[in-house]
Amino acid sequence: MHPLGATALSGWKVIKESPPLKGNFLIAKKENLKETPKIMITSTTQNSLLEAARDFAVNHLNAGNVTAAEDEIQNLVRTVAKVMMKEVAAKMGGKSTYKGVRIICECGGQAEFKGYRKRWIKTLHGEVEIERGYYWCRECRRAYTPWDKEQGLDKRIWTPRVKELVVTTCAALPYKAALSLVERTTGLVIEESSGEEIVCDVGNRLRALEEKAIAAAVDIGEDIVSEASPGRLYISIDAAKAHTDGEWHDIKTAVIYEGKRLEGEDVDTVDSPRYIAAQEKSEGFGRRIYTKAMQAGYDRSQERVVLADGGEWIWNEVRNHFPKSIKILDYYHACEHIYSLAAVLYGEGNPNGKRWAKEHCKKLKEKGPGGLIRAIKRRKARNEQDWEALRLEFGYFKKYRRYMNYPIYRAKGMMIGSGPVEAACKVVVGQRLKQAGMRWTKDGADVVLAVRCALLSGEFDRIEHAARAA
Ligand SMILES: [Zn+2]
Repeated sequence: MHPLGATALSGWKVIKESPPLKGNFLIAKKENLKETPKIMITSTTQNSLLEAARDFAVNHLNAGNVTAAEDEIQNLVRTVAKVMMKEVAAKMGGKSTYKGVRIICECGGQAEFKGYRKRWIKTLHGEVEIERGYYWCRECRRAYTPWDKEQGLDKRIWTPRVKELVVTTCAALPYKAALSLVERTTGLVIEESSGEEIVCDVGNRLRALEEKAIAAAVDIGEDIVSEASPGRLYISIDAAKAHTDGEWHDIKTAVIYEGKRLEGEDVDTVDSPRYIAAQEKSEGFGRRIYTKAMQAGYDRSQERVVLADGGEWIWNEVRNHFPKSIKILDYYHACEHIYSLAAVLYGEGNPNGKRWAKEHCKKLKEKGPGGLIRAIKRRKARNEQDWEALRLEFGYFKKYRRYMNYPIYRAKGMMIGSGPVEAACKVVVGQRLKQAGMRWTKDGADVVLAVRCALLSGEFDRIEHAARAA
């Protein structure tokens, strides 16, 4: 039994607030979960530490070359950090984790103080043992340790900061390479299976938080207050393929970004991209895009543009969730249709056919789809194959003609190609899920995608939040 614990137990005293740490530490209290309270060290105390370090270096460090110096200092710093972490943990534990004789359990019942129990945690600075108040709830018959909950700790040994590091590296690189990088840079040894477990926990929690936001935005119609008010907001949607559960599946992908005009340029470029990717049905993905778009300031943006290829499911969701947006069919997909029609009408590789296609692509861009639709309508079919190709392409261009007002979009400096989302498919999905020999379960891929999207979108606060146990 910890000496402090004994006092608290025998006294049966309810301590409402943990006493501030003695010594040179000040705890800056912040209510916001997103911001972890920082330990602030005064410059005087820091100077005394630095002074000791200088003395130590002058008297004891004699490296013959830069590499040896780097290695030796890194080892020392890690050793010092471990010592500090251990001492700080000892001060954090014990009495200050006591919350009273009885506290309200998560189930709403009353949990009774039963004493102090020890546990190990693996921190960025080594493994430490900590003793904290242990409560037992008679109603739900569960142990409850409020200190663990405050720290965002669960049954797993790692702290939220370690989890953040593991998930961000594992979302960026294959597990083995990521964990080897973690070990080389921090000295933390984490097994591949543990890495997968951590990514699974954090990824699932990211998804759960997303689901909560989606339900609030779509089902309840709650207003999402976004600080962003973009001038022009683009939503671009596509799908990538990945091998999950033994088959190739579509991973629906979207990127939401602001259009920014660089000086001297007449077309927007991508700014502040946010990525979304999931293997799910169109309806679910539509809800996901809608919520993300609202978070990106869709409501407050001056112009909203949706850019995609001719995927039927995409435009259904777009009409459903973004009825008032300017809808643009990817110009290059339209051109592909023109070229493939030319190949049928003139024969594969025929220069006349190529000329015909090139001319119509140019006209489409400069004058819109009217001329092309008329040309297809007037065209005489020589055979069944011609007739079928003409019928299909006539249908395609007629169906999407409203999304092909390229001269108008270009005059406004809008992007008319879905390059950014095609790049997103490669970066978000391809580069992580489609490496040689990789086999995924749907769930295993999903948690990686959840973290990877947050990582590539620069949403480190979301990762930090999700790394804390609920
Ligand atoms: Zn309970």
